[in-house]
Amino acid sequence: MPGLRLPHKLYTVEDLTCAFPVVSNAKIALITGAGSGIGLETSLLFASEGCSSVLADINLEAAQKTAQRIHERYPDVKAIPIKCDVSKEAEVEACVNKAVEEFGRLDIVFNNAGIMHPKDDDALNTDEKVWDLTQEINVKGVWFGCKHAIKAMRANPTDESKGLHVGGSVINTASFVGKMGAATPQIAYTTSKGAVLAMTRELAMVHAKEGIRFNALCPGPLQTPLLMDFLDTPEKLNRRLTHLPMGRFGEAIEQARGVLFLASDESSYITGMDFLVDGGLSACYVTAE
Ligand code: NAD
Repeated sequence: MPGLRLPHKLYTVEDLTCAFPVVSNAKIALITGAGSGIGLETSLLFASEGCSSVLADINLEAAQKTAQRIHERYPDVKAIPIKCDVSKEAEVEACVNKAVEEFGRLDIVFNNAGIMHPKDDDALNTDEKVWDLTQEINVKGVWFGCKHAIKAMRANPTDESKGLHVGGSVINTASFVGKMGAATPQIAYTTSKGAVLAMTRELAMVHAKEGIRFNALCPGPLQTPLLMDFLDTPEKLNRRLTHLPMGRFGEAIEQARGVLFLASDESSYITGMDFLVDGGLSACYVTAE
C-alpha cells in the first residue's frame, strides 16, 4: 500500500534484557516543562534508559537543575537545558532545532508544559485574560510542539544497524478533566485539556502512515506543585481525596512510567489514545464511606 511503512524491526520478548520498556537505543527526546513535576521525573527516567534529551522550561534555572541531576547520575547521557516559553512558536522551534543539531535526530517529543491559573473559575467568573493565557500555553504550546516534531521526525534518518523505527512518538499531556469535567470549576483549564485530546487524535490519524504516533497522557490529580499550590486548604484537599479510589493523590513518577511506555517501541501499535493514569478515578463512582 503506498505510503504504508512497517517498523523496521519489532522487538520480541527475546530482545528485552530488563523489565523496562526499550526507550534507549540512542533515542533522542525533547521534554517541555522539564523543570518540575511530571517533566522532571520523565527526564530522569528517560536518562536512566540511556536517552539523551533537550530539557525545555520557561524557568531556565529549574531545567538546569534537572540537567545537573542527570549529569550526576548518568554521566554518559546528554541533557541540554534550554529556556522556552511553549506559547512562542520561535522558541519551540529553537528547541527542536537544538535537538537535531546536537544529536542528528529527534525520536520523542513530550509536550507536557502546562498551567492551571489560580484565578481560573467558572464560566461567569473567569477573566478573559486567564482564559487566553491558559489556551496559549496549554493548547497552542502543544500544537507548536507537534508541528515542529512532525517536521523533525519526517527528516529522521533510518538507522538500519540499530533497527530504529522510522518516525517517532509524540506524547501530549492532557488531564482526566478533559475526559470528565470537574465539579470544582476551572473552565479555561478543562477546555484546554479537552482540546489537547481532540488535537492529539486528529494528528494521530493524519500522520499514522508516516510512523509518527501521537498519544495523550491523562494524569489524575497529582502531588506536584501545579495542583498542591492550588489546593492550599485541608478542605480543598479533602474534597478531592474523597473521590480517589486509592485514597491518595498520584505521584509524578507514576506518570513518567506511562510516558516511558508511550515513548518506547513497546507501544508501537498504540496511537490516538487517551492514556489515563488516574488511579481508577475515571472508572467508578466513589462515595465518602
Ligand atoms: P508543575 O507545575 O510541577 O510543572 C510544570 C512545569 O512547566 C514547570 O517547570 C513550569 O515552569 C513549566 N512551564 C509552565 N509554563 C510554561 C511555558 N509557558 N513554557 C514552558 N514551560 C512552562 O506541573 P505538573 O503537575 O508536572 O504538570 C505537568 C502537566 O501535567 C501540565 O500540562 C498539567 O496541566 C498536567 N496535569 C497535571 C496534573 C496534576 O495534578 N498535577 C493533573 C493532570 C494534568
